Amino acid sequence: MAVATEHGLFIDGEAVEPASGEFRELREPATGEELGRAAMAGEADVDRAVAAARAALDGAWGKTPGTERSRLLHALADAIVANRKELAELEARNVGKAISSVKAEVAGATENFRYYASAIASIAGRSNPIGGSLLFYSQKEPVGVAGQIVPWNYPMLMATWKLAPALAAGCAVVLKPDPQTPLSVLRIAELATEVGFPPGVINIVPGDGPTTGSYLVRHPGVDKVAFTGSTRTGGEIMRLASDPIKRVTLELGGKSPNLLFADADLADAIPSSVWAIYYSAGQSCEARSRLLVEQSLYDDVVAKVTELSQQIRVGDPLDPETQMGSLISTGHREKVHGFVDGAREDGAEITTGGAIADGPGAFYPPTVIASSGNGIRAAQEEIFGPVVTVIPFADEADAIRIANDVRYGLMATIWTGSPTRGHRIAAKIKSGLVGINMPYTAFPGIPFGGYKQSGFGRELALETLDLYLETKSVVTYTGTRPTNPFGL
Ligand code: NAD
Repeated sequence: MAVATEHGLFIDGEAVEPASGEFRELREPATGEELGRAAMAGEADVDRAVAAARAALDGAWGKTPGTERSRLLHALADAIVANRKELAELEARNVGKAISSVKAEVAGATENFRYYASAIASIAGRSNPIGGSLLFYSQKEPVGVAGQIVPWNYPMLMATWKLAPALAAGCAVVLKPDPQTPLSVLRIAELATEVGFPPGVINIVPGDGPTTGSYLVRHPGVDKVAFTGSTRTGGEIMRLASDPIKRVTLELGGKSPNLLFADADLADAIPSSVWAIYYSAGQSCEARSRLLVEQSLYDDVVAKVTELSQQIRVGDPLDPETQMGSLISTGHREKVHGFVDGAREDGAEITTGGAIADGPGAFYPPTVIASSGNGIRAAQEEIFGPVVTVIPFADEADAIRIANDVRYGLMATIWTGSPTRGHRIAAKIKSGLVGINMPYTAFPGIPFGGYKQSGFGRELALETLDLYLETKSVVTYTGTRPTNPFGL
């Protein structure tokens, strides 16, 4: 029933009316204009989706060999490529982010499906004789029905990061997108059905977190919960997933440092550091939102970052020249602005941005906070907007101390002309990913995930497959005497 402006839930291979009866109006964050109406799932809808996933596992999908799952994942990647313009525009309008960024996200989503189509070949048990009289082999089995929850900042990319390994492992999925941003993943589920994924393998149930999301996490028919979102909600997910006990992985928030040493190639390091905060308008878990600068360079770097921040092209998300679109909503913008006001009160200097402009749309300007220390709230809390805090450090040890002085540990970038220093520091940074003289973050095949309060589990890599698989050990006796331990 899905028409251009009205979007149903996606359950058991088709778009369906919600039993909840609820449709919610979606507005484009960059213009405030109406984008369409989307169905919201209630408990009965989640029940139906979980039942469809279970039936798929018990039916044809549960018997589908890896070679066929691989073919389907490649076919879905092809379908995404064929529909890339539609998907990119849908995402840019729904999230308000620059279409130039979204095009890269569509390409990343495609590559992720292709990566897991190949990675299926690595799913294998092992076998070896033990102690001369025992023969053991193990087999890998899908963990079952995966309940997946994703946020609004990369609705398509985060959904595909979750779907691809689960489907490669042979699981069936019930995925809950954020209620503000359900459109791209609903379309991907349709494409998956068109290329041949059986009904019930992929089910999409948009809805509110504390009601629909919480119900999905607690559902006894769900075997594994994979969550991406804030650290606060991640804690709640852990509690909810404890009764009945489920496997859980959490991809949570970040406050990632960008370490800039005086011996770096500054002509690359400074503009790359500017990009590393403002792409996706700073609404990235791994945004390098703390720029740590060697003291001797500090004033010059603050001046240069300020100047470059003023050159970022902010505007219409659909204009290919735009580098930064709007934030997700005016409500979120208020939160971002609150952090900037807080930094002013904490005695930091706002060298550019920091003011809400008149006009429609949830726009916020690139904003630079110059702070003498790492203790202020703007340096400790995830702002999740286009705001970078620039902090000086005295030497290498001080840089490492400040880099690790937050509760998060998702990513860090190091800029230095000394390769040995780069590796030495990488070993001491408490985060799941470290870039040396390279600002990019997520690549299919390279594990992505957090230390500390940034969560646990890894995405995008072979390690992820194991999080959707059970290992079953089978053991048999190969000795000459019967076992009969009681001698009966
Ligand atoms: P959020 O935690 O508020 O919401 C994330 C998702 O969880 C949404 O779908 C929401 O509806 C759902 N949810 C909320 N409360 C729930 C509950 N009680 N039970 C079940 N589901 C619930 O986060 P957000 O503000 O939407 O997203 C931004 C956060 O996501 C940031 O902290 C960001 O760093 C993080 N993030 C992390 C990664 C990563 O890979 N580590 C990637 C993207 C975003």
